[in-house]
Amino acid sequence: MGGEVRKMATLFSSQKVLILGAGVTGIAVAQALSKRGAHIAIVEENKESNFDFPRVEIDSIDISDWDSIVVSPGWKESHPIIQAAQLGGITILNEIDIAWEIHLEMAPSQKWVAITGTNGKTTTVEMAASMLRSGGFHAIACGNVGETVISVVDQNDPYDYLVVELSSFQLHWSKKAQFVSCAILNIADDHTDWHGSFEKYAQAKISLLDRTSTAILNGDDGVVVEKSAHWQGRKIFYGLDTPKPGELGVVENLLVDRAFVLDPQEAAMICELVDVKPTAPHNVSNALAAAGIARSLGVTHEAIQKALQNFTPGRHRIEIVCEKNGITWIDDSKATNPHAAAASLLSQLHVVWIAGGLAKGAKMEELISRTKGRIRSAIVIGSDGELIASELRRQAPEVQIFKIETPSDYHKGAESNSLMETVVKKAHEVAIEGDTVLLAPACASMDQFISYSDRGDRFAEAVKKVVLHGK
Ligand code: ADP
Repeated sequence: MGGEVRKMATLFSSQKVLILGAGVTGIAVAQALSKRGAHIAIVEENKESNFDFPRVEIDSIDISDWDSIVVSPGWKESHPIIQAAQLGGITILNEIDIAWEIHLEMAPSQKWVAITGTNGKTTTVEMAASMLRSGGFHAIACGNVGETVISVVDQNDPYDYLVVELSSFQLHWSKKAQFVSCAILNIADDHTDWHGSFEKYAQAKISLLDRTSTAILNGDDGVVVEKSAHWQGRKIFYGLDTPKPGELGVVENLLVDRAFVLDPQEAAMICELVDVKPTAPHNVSNALAAAGIARSLGVTHEAIQKALQNFTPGRHRIEIVCEKNGITWIDDSKATNPHAAAASLLSQLHVVWIAGGLAKGAKMEELISRTKGRIRSAIVIGSDGELIASELRRQAPEVQIFKIETPSDYHKGAESNSLMETVVKKAHEVAIEGDTVLLAPACASMDQFISYSDRGDRFAEAVKKVVLHGK
């Protein structure tokens, strides 16, 4: 072990490492590696971004000058620098694997668990981390949520457990990190423009199974079930129905465990449905996945229940903004793909739906066919709003559609409030008692807003102004 630790400590010293991307991840990697004596430079395509490490311009890069490159999530494999590195046999690294190596050096007894899926990752890692803390472990959620994995690992008071949220981009590049257990929540159409096809995207998600021996898998998700069929490790399925022996599930108003019990003929109560907030079906599913992870590490049912009772759901995820005149206004701006929007729409009965933005190559057909019975009117915005409108016209001609055009001189930020006010005024006009006005766009926000949270905040502000204060 001593030899391995020394090897890791010197692994990056004097190495020339080119980091692609000066986002949060790229900078965290630069800090960790330069501390270990590596010579760092960063390529960043955004000219306005400033940082304290040497910057190199793409045109001046000779890839043979570098020992390795580090790819930040989001950089496409087809990028000329990555292509050149592949051709030139240069080592291609990523934050997760570097963090893994640093953890072997800094905290070899620390254990990692991982959660991936198209939707629900952030919610589920947060739930799992609070269950572990409630069970007495020093645990943190990290990755796409909160701090980067590398900065969490690179500190003196090591955590017992890291609950790592992994996106398909991170899984695409990461090969070394190992997990005590993992969960795959769902696999649906998202980021196909980046991966090239749904098949490749699904493959990236499923590749997590190669790094673990115990997997908590959503038995209600056909793609997860099919793509994991070949895998020989310990599979624990969960779902919203009565669980079979060896599974987690729901019986009447209880979440129950028949997987991590002495006698699988028995069902042990994990918690009550009302302990899960919001009590929407997809979120109960997330709670079961998190409970599976916690149980795989020995956390008691009581500690899991306590964690769920004290859990505060994240912002912009089915967040109630206000209720007035029998109309509920909900911000689910985080529903940035059709699968998330479907879960959101199906948790309401009569919806005035605000949707649109950047579809990222996703199709809207299945979303509309699953949810059309819940949609009374739709207000569509953004670059791909027409994708949604045309699918509604085709499958649900009875739904009223209002298209809010983007003004030709529109600027993000400056005009985002007035755009949202126009949207909210239209919704205010058409909503009737018993309706939910739901911002669940099924699309990313960056064509019209800075981020999904910016989109949600502007919506909430507009609702307060128009609905609560009548302006
Ligand atoms: P992620 O980190 O995967 O984006 P979040 O927890 O941030 O996941 O939730 C993203 C969006 O997906 C939110 O709109 C949320 O309401 C929705 N969502 C959460 N869990 C699920 C699930 N299990 N299935 C479908 N949609 C979900």
